[in-house]
Amino acid sequence: MATLQIHQFPCLSDNYGVLIHDAERGVTAAIDAPNAEQVRAALKEKGWKLTYVLTTHHHGDHTDGNLELKAETGCVIIGPRAEANKIPGIDTEVGEGDAFRLGSFQVHVLDTPGHTLGHISYWIPAASVAFVGDTIFAMGCGRVIEGTMEMMWGSLAKLAKLPPATRLYCGHEYTISNAKFALAIEPGNAALVKRADEVAKLRAEDKPTLPTRLDIELETNPFLRVTSAEIRKNLKLEAAQDWQVFAEVRERKNRA
Ligand SMILES: [Zn+2]
Repeated sequence: MATLQIHQFPCLSDNYGVLIHDAERGVTAAIDAPNAEQVRAALKEKGWKLTYVLTTHHHGDHTDGNLELKAETGCVIIGPRAEANKIPGIDTEVGEGDAFRLGSFQVHVLDTPGHTLGHISYWIPAASVAFVGDTIFAMGCGRVIEGTMEMMWGSLAKLAKLPPATRLYCGHEYTISNAKFALAIEPGNAALVKRADEVAKLRAEDKPTLPTRLDIELETNPFLRVTSAEIRKNLKLEAAQDWQVFAEVRERKNRA
């Protein structure tokens, strides 16, 4: 079976760029293009030739490199249909339920709106990996900028149903701030306490805390843990609906 090689690298101040590569088929995709120069350097380091950009959403720190990389490499830019008019250089528009081949791999598109209205995630089941942009972060989630709280909760709940061993690649390294906040609202979560300690050590050595894995997020991410009795009690939302608990957690993080 073919192997999907994945290379993650820091971009801009706290973004991550990701390259995925199917050596057998000579196919390489960048997940978002925060910055052309840094994506180019990562391609050079790996000796890979860019064939696709898979855009998650229209924000500049995910798309600013698109046009330059396309001009240089002739790569095909795939991105969200619902915000196609805001994606520089887009060639192929995709949305919920679409799937396409990337080398030997089938990529499934999930609509994950909330951070932006058209935000999408890319799931590759055969490689147990999903690229979730600014939807989920380690112990965190993206700000609800364009959508509603209910919409964002629906997106998180959708990703939460992927196979638990799915590795999640996220757009930003916000983990230390997220861990601190998570501990404040669920201090009795032993898995969270342990993980906060682990990520602090990684960051002290300037190492990435990502990718993460869905089962780890389900145990430690307060934005996914809306059924936690401790969180509900701390928020005085014992009888609320799941999305309302999510909304309160998100509001509190916005103010933190
Ligand atoms: Zn964003």
